[in-house]
Amino acid sequence: MSTLFKPELLYSDGGFTSGAGLLVSAGLVSAGVVTASSDPVAETVDLRGKALLPGFVNTHSHSFQRLIRGQSESRVMSGRDFWSWRGTMYHAAAQLDPQDVYDVARMAFLEMLLSGTTTVGEFHYLHNAPGGRPYDDPNLLSKQVIAAAQSVGIRIVLLRSAYLRSGFELPPDPGQIRFFESGPAFLSSMEALEKEYPADATDVRLGVAPHSLRAVPLREFKEIAAWARERKLPLHMHVAEQIAENEACLREYGATPVALLSREGLLGADFTAVHAIHINTEEIEHLAQSDTTVCSCPTTERNLGDGVIVADQVMGKGIRIALGSDSQAQIDPLEDARELEYHLRLDRQQRAILDQIGKQTLAQRLFDCATIHGASALGVSTGNLKEGSLADFITVDLEDLSIAGQSASDLLPLAVFSLNRSAIRDVVVNGRWVVRDQRHPLQEEIVARYKELHRKLWGSGLPQKTVTQ
Ligand SMILES: [Zn+2]
Repeated sequence: MSTLFKPELLYSDGGFTSGAGLLVSAGLVSAGVVTASSDPVAETVDLRGKALLPGFVNTHSHSFQRLIRGQSESRVMSGRDFWSWRGTMYHAAAQLDPQDVYDVARMAFLEMLLSGTTTVGEFHYLHNAPGGRPYDDPNLLSKQVIAAAQSVGIRIVLLRSAYLRSGFELPPDPGQIRFFESGPAFLSSMEALEKEYPADATDVRLGVAPHSLRAVPLREFKEIAAWARERKLPLHMHVAEQIAENEACLREYGATPVALLSREGLLGADFTAVHAIHINTEEIEHLAQSDTTVCSCPTTERNLGDGVIVADQVMGKGIRIALGSDSQAQIDPLEDARELEYHLRLDRQQRAILDQIGKQTLAQRLFDCATIHGASALGVSTGNLKEGSLADFITVDLEDLSIAGQSASDLLPLAVFSLNRSAIRDVVVNGRWVVRDQRHPLQEEIVARYKELHRKLWGSGLPQKTVTQ
């Protein structure tokens, strides 16, 4: 038996239709844009005054970094750049016990759900106990993060990260001792996870994430990539986020990260290059030729001063851009989407730079980044409302101040450029309500536990110097 969701406006192919419904059965969309159902309908859900849209996909998240929000915005605390900011991040990472990892992940995932995100790709590299020894179960913290997602009701793709060294010609950084594993230990942990989480599950999926070419030498990266590809798992890696990282790669291998990955035949449709900010025309060509996805994280990249992705050149070559909340400086998928365009506007002193690339409208292009491109990067059938897709969707209140006064034809640009999180009313994952009228049933408990953790970590909030370099 199906459930028919009847909103005032229903998203369909880059626009909105009125008077149509969405039919959901057994967690899947059984028909999108139906005007009358021929199947027996068990229930009709009246969503008058609301629009129904696909849920967003957060392709790149480090949930524990939610704890340093507000703690890394001074030079005293975190220095002046990305490299010194890591000191604050390592300070937080060093102190978390398994319960804390669960509590902060639940807080980040709750905020994602309330921002309309229905699937998260969690790039997880916190593996060892404080002090650096592996836990008896080396997947303990991976499982805590998965359990947090299950508890909150968001779909998770656990991108378990390999972190094998500090960098080329660098001694081990004490701030990273909870991340380090050997290559074989990483693969045996992946194998153990695979046994526990079936590949066809709809709530938990796995992926493989060698952290970066700085943290994973080429030889080990090749072994890990081959392992992932045998199993058809998505492969994600930080690439070209910082110029210093490109320079170190050039010193070690005589090539920049993208050029090296291309030369070694490691890029591909299953590969997602996270950030890809400092890349030249030739490297963009390599990414395009190999059908690689780029995951951009603009709210984090502006927070860290990473730089601006040349989204017009990247998109102009037909490369898919997915989006991630990364450091959780903000959790707002549409803010990430609009920043792809806005950063270029400030830089070029022009407007509508990403409009009409491949004849696509600007709003549709940015909306695709927040939905279908993330879904393909994570290998999950979501991000649209087509028949057979996972029933992941959100509703927005058409009377919300940020979008009131709209028509079916301008709702998409209005939403992409102006929708405030306050407009998001309901969130459905796998056909199951997880947020109804902006309330999540576990919200009070999750926030209370997070506040306790925050107090434990940061005390009264007096600045503690955490800069390491
Ligand atoms: Zn990251």
